[in-house]
Amino acid sequence: MKAQDISREKSAELFEKAKKYFPGGVNSPVRAFKSVYGTPLFIEKGDKAHLWDADGNEFIDFCCSWGPLILGHNHPAIREAVQAQLGKGLSFGAPTLLENELAELILSNNKYIEKIRFVSSGTEAVMSAIRLARGYTKRDKIVKFEGCYHGHSDSLLVKAGSGLVTFGETSSAGVPKAFADETIVISLNDKKALEQVFVDFKDQIAAVIIEGVPANNGLLIQDKEYIHFLREITKAHGTLLIFDEVITGFRLGFEGAAKYYDIQPDIITYGKIIGGGMPVGAYGASAEIMSNISPDGAVYQAGTLSGNPVAMAAGIAALQVLAQPGFYEKLEKTTQQFVEEIRSFVTEKNYEVKIFTVGSIFWFAFTAQEKIQSAEQIDPASMEKYKVMHRELLNRGIYFGPSGYEVGFISAAHTEEDLNKAVTAIKEALMVTFE
Ligand code: PLP
Repeated sequence: MKAQDISREKSAELFEKAKKYFPGGVNSPVRAFKSVYGTPLFIEKGDKAHLWDADGNEFIDFCCSWGPLILGHNHPAIREAVQAQLGKGLSFGAPTLLENELAELILSNNKYIEKIRFVSSGTEAVMSAIRLARGYTKRDKIVKFEGCYHGHSDSLLVKAGSGLVTFGETSSAGVPKAFADETIVISLNDKKALEQVFVDFKDQIAAVIIEGVPANNGLLIQDKEYIHFLREITKAHGTLLIFDEVITGFRLGFEGAAKYYDIQPDIITYGKIIGGGMPVGAYGASAEIMSNISPDGAVYQAGTLSGNPVAMAAGIAALQVLAQPGFYEKLEKTTQQFVEEIRSFVTEKNYEVKIFTVGSIFWFAFTAQEKIQSAEQIDPASMEKYKVMHRELLNRGIYFGPSGYEVGFISAAHTEEDLNKAVTAIKEALMVTFE
């Protein structure tokens, strides 16, 4: 049953070279394939839902560049918009019509924010949102949840400390302890812990930040009731609620997780899909909160390449497609069908694997638990099974993210044929995994 290993000769050669240039041979750690078997695949090109690596192997892509590619690779509208802009200039450091156009497209289709500021990454968006919350509330502490990732800024590279105390510990060398002391980390889906932080740090908490639907450490789907409780308790304490929608924004719907939960967050951050595959991030809020950003207000935030015209052109082209009626309903239906087929197979085989899904996001969890809603519920040992499945999938032409904690994405470019092929490959890979 075990498929023959794909050739990775050229990728391995390129990786050896890359190790001379970059720490660990990569420009972002998870790409190094440390959590799965083999060397990373060097990608040569992508088209629709397909990827080709340097050895000529072809894959159906379920990583989708970690989320941005909801329309697949090389989408004609995005490609043409980018090409049209290339002839006019790459960057001006001055306002352009394109920024207005993208903002208008977003704001006129999203009732949860009134003003927006474009930046160049999700990290930058979240870092700026935190500063805005601190500037607005004139408080310093922030609360985050164990298992949520918000980019690599100092305040957010903090994990839960040991013991009952909720002070965080840095999760990276180089982050001053003083920063970690301002970040309180609690478990997801735990109302008591939330209540307790507002007792312990009364009138000190600027913001609570949560991923729209936590999707960076498995897919930890929170109950609506809990998210509404989070909204109420933050409001009652004059604390801002930040929805980090870098993954869920324009993924769960044009209005993201805010609409999904029917919640009005105070600040929302975006990234990934918003740039159509180009580096764009953004944060938005009410006009009143946004008036605190410079040059209107005292919270400083700037960027040489912010609102970059090529990136704006890509974002506009992508979001115009997403704004079409029925786009998300169709994608969600496709995802449900795909997941259901695999679910019935695992039930029939009695395998300990669950596939959690929301919108067009899915996550394979090797567990018997019916629900996983906090990081603590994930057994690290279960990742060994993911490693085997990942290798078997690559050998069958299916590209999943190189870590069992990462979610997968379905794009509008995945055809019925792609998904049928993937279902067959996944069934076979699971059979090897549970052999
Ligand atoms: N926030 C969330 C929810 C993310 O998933 C990520 C990246 O995966 C970030 C922030 C950081 O975004 P970027 O990698 O663009 O800096």
